Amino acid sequence: MNDEILDIVIVGGGPSGLSAAWHLRERSPVVLEERGRLGGRLKSEPRAPYWMNFGGHLFPSAGSNMHDLVQDLGLEVIEIPGLKTAMTFAGKVYRAKRVEAYPFVLPMSFKERVELVKVGTRLMTTVARWHRIARPRPGEPDSARRERIARFRAGETFRDLLGRPSRRVDEIFQAAARRAAAEPEQQSAGVGVALFGAVWSGKKDNTALNLNGGSGRVGQAMLEHLGDRARLGAAVRSVRQEGDLVRVAYLRDGQEHTVTARQVVVAVPAHLARKIVADLPAAVDDALRVPQYGSWVGMTMITDEPGPMPYDDIYAMTTPDRTFDMFFNHANPLRRPGRREPGGSLMCYAGGATAERLLKLSDAEITDIYTREILELFPALRGHIVESHIQRWFIGGTYRSLSDAAFEPLIEYSREPGHRIHFAGDYFAPLGQMEVAVTSGKGAAEMVSRELAREPRTSGAA
Ligand SMILES: Cc1cc2nc3c(=O)[nH]c(=O)nc-3n(C[C@H](O)[C@H](O)[C@H](O)COP(=O)(O)OP(=O)(O)OC[C@H]3O[C@@H](n4cnc5c(N)ncnc54)[C@H](O)[C@@H]3O)c2cc1C
Repeated sequence: MNDEILDIVIVGGGPSGLSAAWHLRERSPVVLEERGRLGGRLKSEPRAPYWMNFGGHLFPSAGSNMHDLVQDLGLEVIEIPGLKTAMTFAGKVYRAKRVEAYPFVLPMSFKERVELVKVGTRLMTTVARWHRIARPRPGEPDSARRERIARFRAGETFRDLLGRPSRRVDEIFQAAARRAAAEPEQQSAGVGVALFGAVWSGKKDNTALNLNGGSGRVGQAMLEHLGDRARLGAAVRSVRQEGDLVRVAYLRDGQEHTVTARQVVVAVPAHLARKIVADLPAAVDDALRVPQYGSWVGMTMITDEPGPMPYDDIYAMTTPDRTFDMFFNHANPLRRPGRREPGGSLMCYAGGATAERLLKLSDAEITDIYTREILELFPALRGHIVESHIQRWFIGGTYRSLSDAAFEPLIEYSREPGHRIHFAGDYFAPLGQMEVAVTSGKGAAEMVSRELAREPRTSGAA
């Protein structure tokens, strides 16, 4: 396997690397992926007629780069009919179609109601501003919009924006904030606002879709497309530019391999990219320290109930009164009016400080806690959880905290012509999401194409 010279090597087979691979498909890129599957943090397994979902699941709507990618791959996105704004409070489930209604719906004291209105209004006003900032402007490059979003409320924490409301009110915002895999004190206000902006987008919900069959189908479809150009179980150890070529060393099946490429896209989380890419300019290395990573601990369940369940109309529920922060009903997008198919697929997860605590427990202990708290909410589920799996995402979500270091040097480096090593990942925005990942992968692919167009073609692709 030594001494191969390829046009393009992509390191990392998550959405960002796969997007780069797809946009460079005419140049037969090789993807090196450490795990035994493609897809990264998009992961699901079929359990007909449902699927078990372990990672990312809310897909952006038409007009997004992710939507284009799944369409190109021949995959089907489906609408989510269920509520995404359900909430538990003091042990009960509440179903407001608009989150603004909660101060008037939840059983709270007068003081709590006033606090919820106050913090909610402040947040809503800031989200409206964020939407204006995030809107693409005619003719501007993606990078300009990205920089504008990155600067938005970057100099204060989300805690600064929320203030210190009383416990039960604070728990609502805390649970929602942990969807960024971090506590309000850890994430910048811009991250918290982007998070609320993504789920609280007024008339137009831009994360309204599911992938039929589960998000894991993205990786499977790309594996079928790439064939043996996807090298699974290939853990990249170093990426080093040597003259006009880049040498990539990786470990596979216990053996050291080296491959040489004209262009390389490094599509792994930022802190891992720092470890493997040699001789980076100091400002770029510093920029790669800016994105922070937090964990999530989830439980995915397959159920066998014979008929309707009390959560059938819900897709996503924030659960501030539980150990987990969020609860999802992954069967909801498959429910049709009329006969209700038996069984279902559920998921719950915790992020931030709770996830850190749970990571110290065994799977059985986490299963006990989550199961008990789900059954308290939905006693009808007792005896119907037939399969469950604890998923530990040590690298769960990426977010920005307050940092003196600037991220712009990485963006500038990625834009400058003449480089042979390019970066991609969901860490290109303050809040990591699959759309950020595939957009950065597409951007890296454009740079690679531009660079390769200046050179003669290589025929040595494996
Ligand atoms: C529980 C959960 C829920 C989520 N929900 C949503 C959602 O609803 N909507 C949304 O938009 N996003 C969601 N996300 C986030 C989304 O999954 C990520 O933004 C996206 O997967 C990031 O893609 P990426 O390619 O940048 O990184 P990753 O998906 O992490 O892919 C990186 C890949 O690089 C590989 N790798 C790392 N190091 C090496 C190495 N040295 N050599 C070779 N390979 C290596 C990894 O194994 C991995 O496959 C969720 C994530 C999780 C975990």
